[in-house]
Amino acid sequence: MRLLLIGPPNAGKGTQAGLLTSKYDIPHVSTGNILRDQIARETPLGLTAKPYVENGKLVPDELVMALVASALDSIDLDRGFLFDGYPRNVAQAENLTEVLRLKGKPLDAVVLLQVDEDQLVKRATGRRVCSKCSKTYHVSFNPPQTENVCDACGSDLIQRKDDQPETVKSRLEVYKNQTEPLVEYFSQQGTLKPIDGSGAPDEVFNRVVEALKDIR
Ligand code: AMP
Repeated sequence: MRLLLIGPPNAGKGTQAGLLTSKYDIPHVSTGNILRDQIARETPLGLTAKPYVENGKLVPDELVMALVASALDSIDLDRGFLFDGYPRNVAQAENLTEVLRLKGKPLDAVVLLQVDEDQLVKRATGRRVCSKCSKTYHVSFNPPQTENVCDACGSDLIQRKDDQPETVKSRLEVYKNQTEPLVEYFSQQGTLKPIDGSGAPDEVFNRVVEALKDIR
């Protein structure tokens, strides 16, 4: 299964990506997680990307496309994959489509998670992320067993800088201007699967699985 997961910030892409990659046993590529890891390790790429990520702007295409090219080289494409948070604009989508065409591995489906704007802001400001393993929680909707401690690895939970209210608004603007045109792009390709992303993670997951049931 070769999948993309797209949607506005805080639509639940990371959570659904975790559930889908375990159900279908496919590698998960999150450009956001790769960038945050590079930033934490203060690599040259991380240092360049940091101001963009912290201000909710898109990291320049050439950097992200290079990251994705190396991610694609490092996975066994026969197993399939799920990209989460990539592509984020039409140039990235065209590039990915072409790279996959050359490899003979076109996309099976593009899952679009749709959530109202009010809900997106509520989700963002309550989100907490493990500083070590990137597992995500929400202070009200999905709290950890012990406040501020990751259930999976015991590390501290943090609030991402880009989940603070002003940055959340700016990320939504970026989504509307740059990422939303992908809805048209992928619906023309016939791969788009729009999914209602409201409600609990398992409800959303069931809708996604239902939408994918005819793919192999
Ligand atoms: P995410 O975790 O997917 O919400 O990504 C967090 C941040 O990483 C975004 O707000 C961007 O600054 C950056 N980022 C992630 N994926 C991309 C991408 N495909 N293109 C450009 N910037 C990205």
